Amino acid sequence: MSVHAKTTSPAPASWQRQYAEAVRDPRELLQLLDLPADLLPAARRAAGLFPLRVPRAFIARMQPGRSDDPLLRQVLPLDAEFDEAPGFVADPVGDLAAHGGAGVLHKYHGRALLITTGACAVHCRYCFRRHYPYPEAQSSRSQWQPALDYLRTHPEIQEIILSGGDPLSLSDQRFGELLRELEALPQLRRLRIHSRLPVVLPDRVNETLLGQLRESRLRSVVVIHANHAAELDPSVARAVAALGEAGAMLLNQAVLLQGVNDTLEAQCALSERLFDIGVLPYYLHLLDRVRGARHFDLPEARAVALWRQMAARLPGYLLPRLVREISGEPNKTLLAPTPTPQS
Ligand SMILES: *Cc1c(COP(=O)(O)O)cnc(C)c1O
Ligand code: SF4
Repeated sequence: MSVHAKTTSPAPASWQRQYAEAVRDPRELLQLLDLPADLLPAARRAAGLFPLRVPRAFIARMQPGRSDDPLLRQVLPLDAEFDEAPGFVADPVGDLAAHGGAGVLHKYHGRALLITTGACAVHCRYCFRRHYPYPEAQSSRSQWQPALDYLRTHPEIQEIILSGGDPLSLSDQRFGELLRELEALPQLRRLRIHSRLPVVLPDRVNETLLGQLRESRLRSVVVIHANHAAELDPSVARAVAALGEAGAMLLNQAVLLQGVNDTLEAQCALSERLFDIGVLPYYLHLLDRVRGARHFDLPEARAVALWRQMAARLPGYLLPRLVREISGEPNKTLLAPTPTPQS
C-alpha cells in the first residue's frame, strides 16, 4: 500500500495506473502465463463479445502453464461463450432495464442499491452485466443527482449499497464526493460497498480510501467478491485487514462456477481462507443465466447437494447463504436453509 504526498497537481494514485494497465490483449495474457498460442483465436473471438480485462496483480496469482487455473477460467474468453442455450439471456436479472435513469434499485426493505459507475477493474466472463458495455469513463457527479433525490424522498432507506460496475473504480476524489453527499442524508446509517477491487487490485485500498471510511459517520460494510481461495494472497489479506482497521465489517460474496469452485474442497478452502483473513462468507450465488455463460452453470440440485455437504463440514458462521436472484421477490431467494452469522 502506498501513501501519496499531497501536491498541488496530484498525480493519479498508483492504483489508477495499475487499473489502466490491466491486460486487455488475449495474446499478452497467454504469453504471461506460458500458455499455448492455439488458445488465441478463440480468446480473440470471444473477447469480441465482452472485452478481456484483467489486472496484472490478479494474473500474478495464476499458475503458469495451466489453462484450467481457476482464476484464469474466470477471465479467459472461450468459444463456449458462443453457445446459445434456452433460458440464457442478455439481461437475466431484469434490473438494468428496471432502474431507469435514476441509477438506484430499491427492491428490498430499508436498503437501496446505487449504480455508481459501470466500470470494473476486471471483466468476469460470467458477469450478468456482460451485455451492457458501459462507457469506460467515470460517471459525472450530476449523474448521481437523480439517485440522491430519490433517497431524499425515501427516508425509510437506512442503508445504501454502492454497486456497479465496481464502486471502488471511482477515483479517490469522486468516491469522496459521493460519500459526502450520502453522509448529508440524515436517515442513512450504513454504507455498504460491493467491490471486487480489494481482491483483484488490492492497492486500491490506499490511505485515502481508508481515511474516508474511518472519518465517515456511516458504519461501513465491505462485501468483497472472491470465488476461490487462491485469489486471497497476502496482498489481499493486507488490504482487507486495513479495511477492518478502518472500521469496516467484512463479508464475501461468491458465485458458484463450474470448473472454478464447484467442489466441496474448493468451497471449504474458500471459507477457511476468508476466515483466516478476517472475512465472513455471506452469499454463494447461483449463476445468473446470462447468455454466453452456460459453461459455468451448475444444475440447481447439484448446487443444493454441494451446499448440504458444506453444511456438514463447516462451522455455521463459515457457511454462505446459497441464493438465487429472482426478480419481484422481497429478498434474495434462499435455496437452502442456513443459520444467520452474527458479528
Ligand atoms: C442483493 C441486493 C440487495 C442486498 O440484499 P441483502 O439481503 O441486504 O444482502 C439490495 N438490493 C438489491 C437490488 C439487491 O440485488
Ligand atoms: S467485478 Fe462484478 S460487476 Fe465487474 S465484471 Fe466481475 S462480476 Fe461483473
